[in-house]
Amino acid sequence: MVALLPRGKPLNRPAVAPATPAACAALLNEQAKTSEQIMAEHSPAETEITSLAQARAAARSCTRCPLYEHATQTVFGEGPRDALVMFVGEQPGDKEDLAGKPFIGPAGKVLDEAVEKTGIDRRRVYVTNAVKHFKFVPRGKRRLHQRPDGGEIQACKFWLELEIAFIKPKIIVALGATAARSLLGKTVTIGKLRGAPIKRDDGATLFVTNHPSYLLRIRDKADQARERARFEEELSMVRSAIPAP
Ligand code: SF4
Repeated sequence: MVALLPRGKPLNRPAVAPATPAACAALLNEQAKTSEQIMAEHSPAETEITSLAQARAAARSCTRCPLYEHATQTVFGEGPRDALVMFVGEQPGDKEDLAGKPFIGPAGKVLDEAVEKTGIDRRRVYVTNAVKHFKFVPRGKRRLHQRPDGGEIQACKFWLELEIAFIKPKIIVALGATAARSLLGKTVTIGKLRGAPIKRDDGATLFVTNHPSYLLRIRDKADQARERARFEEELSMVRSAIPAP
């Protein structure tokens, strides 16, 4: 269950001069720590997690990978405890990072529209991301999205697995390559997996499709309409796979 952290990668430390020799020694010790050691210090609390609420609270102080350093906050998943369907995106975007809520930006709007159009009951949907902190590069006043790397996806899988374990969704939908990589444990080509349900060991059914932000990036209107229709077709398949109450 416990995910691996990128090995030996030191985390940033504040460059504040210590006032005394003892403080100096303490700071040197702190600076010598790797992220693995820091993770070990945090692990005991994490291994005692027994509920989704505890997982959400513990994730707020997660330092499993370096992404917490520059993001505003951890953006954990949201939705009912008895959700039937879990949508897993890539990571929070700029708006989500500031608000602390997943899928509230333009991509979330596309997802909400498709969910409503295909008749999936939004009250039984949980939305989350494979990676819970926003990864970006600053460009002037803007923060440009950057795709999380394999180590970050693997580190954050710890939280995604807890969400799945506590919610126990019947259907999981991987939105995009990052979510699919986290859920399948390997790099995959979305085009080869679309439209084909995958049975998971925990009994849930996994669907893989594009991330709604991909639809927003398509410039050509006709292409965008075609891809949007295909996205909705795939959510219709998800709707059909939801077991009757
Ligand atoms: S991205 Fe995930 S693993 Fe990395 S610090 Fe944030 S919550 Fe922890």
